[in-house]
Amino acid sequence: MKTKTFPCCKFLGIRKLRNFTSTNSKYILRMESISIFDMLKIGVGPSSSHTLGPWRAAERWISELKSANLFKEVNGIKVHMFGSLSLTGKGHATDFAVMLGLSGADPVEIPVKDIHAIINIIQETNSLNFGNEVQLSFDPKKDILFHRKFLEFHANGLQFEATLKSGKKKSNTYYSIGGGFVVVKERKNAKRNLAIFSSFPFPIQKGTELLVFCKEQKKSISEIVLENERSLRADSKIDEEILKVWSTMLECMYIGCHTEGKLPGGLNVHRRAFDLNKNLLGDKASYATPREWLEAIRSTEVKFRQILKWVSCFALAVNEVNASLGRVVTAPTNGSAGVIPAVLMYYLVIENHNADTRHIKQFLFVAGEIGSIFKKGATISAAMGGCQAEIGVSSAMAAGALTELLGGTPEQVLMAAEIAMEHHLGLTCDPIGGLVQIPCIERNSMGAIKAINAAELALGSDPEDAKVPLDKVVETMWATAKDMSSKYKETSEGGLAVGINMSDC
Ligand code: SF4
Repeated sequence: MKTKTFPCCKFLGIRKLRNFTSTNSKYILRMESISIFDMLKIGVGPSSSHTLGPWRAAERWISELKSANLFKEVNGIKVHMFGSLSLTGKGHATDFAVMLGLSGADPVEIPVKDIHAIINIIQETNSLNFGNEVQLSFDPKKDILFHRKFLEFHANGLQFEATLKSGKKKSNTYYSIGGGFVVVKERKNAKRNLAIFSSFPFPIQKGTELLVFCKEQKKSISEIVLENERSLRADSKIDEEILKVWSTMLECMYIGCHTEGKLPGGLNVHRRAFDLNKNLLGDKASYATPREWLEAIRSTEVKFRQILKWVSCFALAVNEVNASLGRVVTAPTNGSAGVIPAVLMYYLVIENHNADTRHIKQFLFVAGEIGSIFKKGATISAAMGGCQAEIGVSSAMAAGALTELLGGTPEQVLMAAEIAMEHHLGLTCDPIGGLVQIPCIERNSMGAIKAINAAELALGSDPEDAKVPLDKVVETMWATAKDMSSKYKETSEGGLAVGINMSDC
């Protein structure tokens, strides 16, 4: 049995294996082929691991029941939440997410205004339209059970259990491993074995491999990423998807900057993007669409303080929308969804007024690739690694992406990503009341500013002088994650979450 070897893989000792059999399994490289569209997913707030993941798990369970011809046999359902999903599930709307998923709603397609209507019907009637096809009795108070226990494989476990008409039970357990990714119990080694690498011309697990490809192919990071994406979908589809991601980001910032009031959940958090936007634009600005708003910002005069305020405003806007169950792009998670749009918007409205969709594409390609390196080598789940895995990773993604747009070499891009993460190492996750609001919303503005700073430091440096390569900071982040007390991993059992009482807010 012959194996195919891509020229670009040869020097890395990587064998491209199509049509493999057990006889050549010693050559199999088990790597995750992560598309940038896996890192940048359109969904609904407030959390990728606690909202989007469980929602997707419910959809997946339904399709598995259908494949096994059991869907029509279901007579009743129960959902069990474990570990972090249980401890912060209510604040993160995990219960809402599973009800929506079980009702057959899709997080990308559902009009945001319909979310509360569907939940209200379920709560008032104690019944659920299972898969949007079969009416079942379902009392959220009794049929969604929160267990403090942690399952062995991952901190975010949830189990769906069906009682069939025959009286038999059928259940399955899923793990929401961050960024909206969901894996099932049988795949205990899912972190390494999610996919057998077989499709990318440039398989990348680490930063060093990415740099080798850039050098050999004389391509920028975004060009290498484009080649990989081309092995998954046509150019027209890539452009279409990128534009969808960017329009969702822009619309999200726009909505956040034009919505007043307080956020839901009981913390009485005042929405700040509205006032910031109004004060920065002044009374004379006139616009009616997100695109015109972007142009209006371009025409304002900005000094350092205004730049800080604008970047913060963009980040706050996204995360205020996220906290109110609005539509956002998971980047790489929902809690950290504001960093990447804020830094990209900074580039568009401050750095380069002539920027167009080519620049947006380039930025998102690089950001997605850096995020995937962290996902492969460490984690993007706060339940596994605290906030360094969310805001730290998003800041690194944005720093690297901005560096390429500002003319940095691939080495400087990775250096910027490393700098951004280095100064988030050890950052804990301790959301007050389990809500993705404090410290989360402000933390996005900090991550965005740090990303811009990291890009500038890298652009002014010689990467040869860097003492800490990106791969080392990825390893260190993972080691820190493993050392971190579970109190600081999205359980709301430590830090600000216990230092501040909900009743005082
Ligand atoms: S503290 Fe950080 S990791 Fe935790 S929920 Fe908030 S943004 Fe996410």
